[in-house]
Amino acid sequence: MTSPKSLLALLCIPLLLAATAATVVPVPGPVHSPSSLGGGHEVGLSGALRMMEDSGAMRSLDGAPIAGMAFVPLRAKTGATWRGYRIGFWPGERRLGSRIRYPLPNGFLEVTPESQDLQVSAHFRVRDFLTHDQSARWPKVLVLHLRLVDKLELISERLAALGRPSTLRVMSGFRTPQYNALGVGRRGGRAQDSRHMYGDAADIYVDGDGNGRMDDLNRDGRVTIEDARWLAGIAAQVEAQHPELAGGIGVYGATSTHGPFVHVDARGTPARW
Ligand SMILES: [Zn+2]
Repeated sequence: MTSPKSLLALLCIPLLLAATAATVVPVPGPVHSPSSLGGGHEVGLSGALRMMEDSGAMRSLDGAPIAGMAFVPLRAKTGATWRGYRIGFWPGERRLGSRIRYPLPNGFLEVTPESQDLQVSAHFRVRDFLTHDQSARWPKVLVLHLRLVDKLELISERLAALGRPSTLRVMSGFRTPQYNALGVGRRGGRAQDSRHMYGDAADIYVDGDGNGRMDDLNRDGRVTIEDARWLAGIAAQVEAQHPELAGGIGVYGATSTHGPFVHVDARGTPARW
């Protein structure tokens, strides 16, 4: 088995090749599991997406449509919206200064009703990471980093190795700044500069029985925050093996609207809560 470290090394190759290519040619092919790296758990879309990652920020090579998805530079926004889809403003878009913690994304992907079903990796589709608002409004926008997808696939692989269902569900992936802002504050519990706005964070739970909530992962006969802690432990094991995917791991209990879940992100440095 090739380690994701070498996978990351492989990622540099398409970037180098891409420098001379006029357009990105998606790599067609079957879905692989992360254990068959050396192509990784890539499908056509993730092959193309990998070429759009450059030092932590998404970019296109020439703005050409990629596997049915167009890359849109940030400057194409009109104020807080793009083609009628409300996005809001990232911190740093309108003001500069020491309070800006994270660099702006270079842009975002255009997602249509068709492209939302594209497979990003073995277990995930584009739609899994979309912001949960403006359901009737198309196209939507998406910022997504494959470091996050790698991390989720590795967690999924570890779950399967431990005899648990590998069906990771993303409760919340990318959040537009305006959507994230709705949940900032004491009651919402979201960070003002949440990694969800930068496309490398996901709130996840394991749902093998398909009831829409966390499973009894620690097998104590109940579904509680302890199951989220158990899943967070798996995420921490993945980080220990793949420090290049380090980031936040946060544990959350159930509320009236959702079961227990775990926040994971790939911000580059470990954070725990
Ligand atoms: Zn989160």
